Amino acid sequence: MEYKRILLKLSGEALMGNQQYGIDASRLEQYSLEIKKVKDLGIEIAIVIGGGNIYRGVQAESSGIDRVQGDYMGMLATMINAMALQSALENHGLYTRLMSGIKMEQISEPFIRRRAMRHLEKGRIVIFGAGIGNPYFTTDSTASLRAIEIEADVVLKGTRVDGVYSADPEKDPNATRFSKISFQEAYQKGLNIMDMTAFTLCQENNLPIRVFDMNKPGNLAKLVQGEEVGTLISS
Ligand code: UDP
Repeated sequence: MEYKRILLKLSGEALMGNQQYGIDASRLEQYSLEIKKVKDLGIEIAIVIGGGNIYRGVQAESSGIDRVQGDYMGMLATMINAMALQSALENHGLYTRLMSGIKMEQISEPFIRRRAMRHLEKGRIVIFGAGIGNPYFTTDSTASLRAIEIEADVVLKGTRVDGVYSADPEKDPNATRFSKISFQEAYQKGLNIMDMTAFTLCQENNLPIRVFDMNKPGNLAKLVQGEEVGTLISS
């Protein structure tokens, strides 16, 4: 296996599928199956899920809500997604634990690093909800930070494109995909991989990122077994 312990980052928007808002049940089911395949290979899995399909802090100001309040609303949105994902995974007989960056003791455990690592060792899938629990951060930064804390081997950023391109492949037909790129080069080229906080955390802590197409069946299992899928960003 290429990796023993992974941190999978899924955006909230990915959960929308073809809908305009909310959670698409078939997408949730599809992701659960992809995650199960990897679990069955014996990989330890932690997941950070975003909330953009429900709410983002940046939306707040236009509706007269201050940014910090909006960010907390965004964090709550991630918990809704995390709970949905937890149920979907459990429907496939997987053992899971939901850990929240904000105390919500009726529905989740608080994030405690040692406990998270113990869950992983015992084969439970750990979902980190509510981001890191602080405004002005994103779930990408959460993914980088938690991955470093739990000593994951890699951050796997599941998206709807199959890697990092020289330009936006949805707009520029001449865009080419990198199979590998260094942090330094990605930074110099101004490639949009993760927000700068998330990107810098990974770079400074030597934690590789792999961007890949989560919607393509089998991709996640392939890459944990060492196949070249998506783009690897490393030192
Ligand atoms: N958020 C935050 N702190 C965190 C994580 C998330 O304030 O540690 C808020 C922020 O407002 C963000 C929203 O939660 O916009 C939803 O997360 P994100 O935008 O990262 O979701 P994604 O784009 O991955 O769906």
